[in-house]
This record gives sequence, C-alpha cells and structure tokens, in this order.
Amino acid sequence: MKAEDKVKKLYELFSPCYLCPLNCGVKRKEGETGSCGAGNRLKISSYTIYKGEEPPLVGNVGAGAIFFSYCNLKCVYCQNYNFSQLFSGRVISIGDLVNIMLELQNKGAANINLITATHFFPQIVEALSIAKSKGLMLPIVYNTSGYESVEVLRLLHGFVDIYLTDFRYGTNASGERYSKVLNYVEITKSAVKEMYNQVGNLVVDGNGIAKKGLIVRHLLFPNGIEELRAVVDFVANSLSKDVYFSLMSQYVPVYRAKEYPEINRKITREEFLLATRVVREAGITNGWIQYG
Ligand code: SF4
Repeated sequence: MKAEDKVKKLYELFSPCYLCPLNCGVKRKEGETGSCGAGNRLKISSYTIYKGEEPPLVGNVGAGAIFFSYCNLKCVYCQNYNFSQLFSGRVISIGDLVNIMLELQNKGAANINLITATHFFPQIVEALSIAKSKGLMLPIVYNTSGYESVEVLRLLHGFVDIYLTDFRYGTNASGERYSKVLNYVEITKSAVKEMYNQVGNLVVDGNGIAKKGLIVRHLLFPNGIEELRAVVDFVANSLSKDVYFSLMSQYVPVYRAKEYPEINRKITREEFLLATRVVREAGITNGWIQYG
C-alpha cells in the first residue's frame, strides 16, 4: 500500500475511532471523545531533547521526544498522569508538528521519539510525510504501551523505524487492575509480534545509535517477579532470545498507586537481583538493566 493510502486509511479509522484495541467507535471529528479522552484536535504536552531513554536512542545529544496528551491506558501508577489522564497540554496544528520534528533534528536529536501517540496516528503520519519532504532524515521511534491494534500497526509499516514498546503485564488480571484494560496479554503479544515482523532486531550504526529494530521494556513492579517471568518467556520463546530487552526497576508509587497496597512501595534489592536472574535464565542477553 502506498504511503498516501495508509494515511487515508488511518483517517478512516479516526472517526468513528477504531485506532486502538478499545474500539470506542466515537465520532471524534464531531467532538466526541473516547476512553483515551482525545477528540478531534492534536495536542501535545511538550517536546524536548530527552536523555531518559536507552543508550542507543540517546547518543551524545538525546532523543527528540514529543509527549502527546491523552492515553488509552489508565495506569494507576502513571508518572505522566498530568497529560495522559488529566489531559493537560496545548493544541497544535499538523504544521506545528512538522516544525517541531525539524527543530528537534536541527538541535541534533538522535531520532524523533513519539511518546504514546496511538490516538493521533493519522495526524502524525501525515506530519511525518510532510517533514520527510522537507528534509527530516532521523529514525522514527514509536514509544508505546504495547496495547495496540495489529491492523493499525500494519498501516505504520514504513513510517516507524524503531518500536520501543512496553510489555507491562504477564497477566490480564494485572492489566485490568492497574491499567483498566481487558486482554492486555493477548493484545500486546499480537502487537509486539507484528512490530518484530516489521523491524526485526535492533540495528545500530558505527556510533552506537539505533537505526532500526525492536526494544521491549518491562517495568518491574513490587511483587512482580511472576509477571516478569511471563513476559521474558514470551520474548525469548515467541520472538527471539536476541531481542533487546530493557528491564526497568525504578518503579515509584505515584498518582493512585497508594490505593493498591501491593504496589505501594519501591522495588527491593532482593527483587531486583531475582529479576536479573529471571532475565538471564530466559536466555536473553541483549539489552539493559536499570536500577534505582
Ligand atoms: S484511540 Fe481513543 S477514542 Fe480511539 S478507540 Fe482508542 S481509546 Fe477509543
């Protein structure tokens, strides 16, 4: 399918909205909003040169991060709840988004890092097409919760170079309890398989900067070793042991986490050490372990 046909098809899925697995079917062009809260207008929280990603996504300067307002998950521990769930941010045009991408490139960003953007895919892909015609050459990173529609991901094929995906839970019960979505595991497994089929293992250039590929992230929760085990088993056995895996242990109980006693604390050192063993025993050797 040609790029312009993909953009057209994404706009068809925009209103009524079927851009994510929640399939709200709301008429966003007419001002209705779905579960994510997004309506007709493109909105971002901020954009910046950002050093908080994995080393090949940061390089010497940083990732060119664009934080979009709204989110289809309602994570009770979300650090970005101000713009993901309370919808702060500013409305911008597609032209503004093009200019932001080009500005980040001019500042030396290693990539364009689109953070939780599912609900704005049509506008983003349109902006990417324009930005590329104006000289945007950076790799495009899609930074996602993993809870994505395979049909929509197929329309992103060719627009996204690097999928930086969370795989948050090993059980649907946790997805329901902590992010308020159903069937998180099956949906995310299908989505991550599609991502891997599109971009394969991580490829870096001579300077260690990522150009293409998949990175799977998992944020370790308190009492979360079995969830982690299920995720790494999937990665190692259903994708590949060569997949780059990022274990994050810097969980902090913010936002509504205090309402959930079992996750209302940081990770212990024992949990962290056990988690590194679980990853190693699964046979995964590529990636990063972040602690603290
Ligand atoms: S992107 Fe938003 S409105 Fe569209 S289906 Fe998902 S949650 Fe609903």
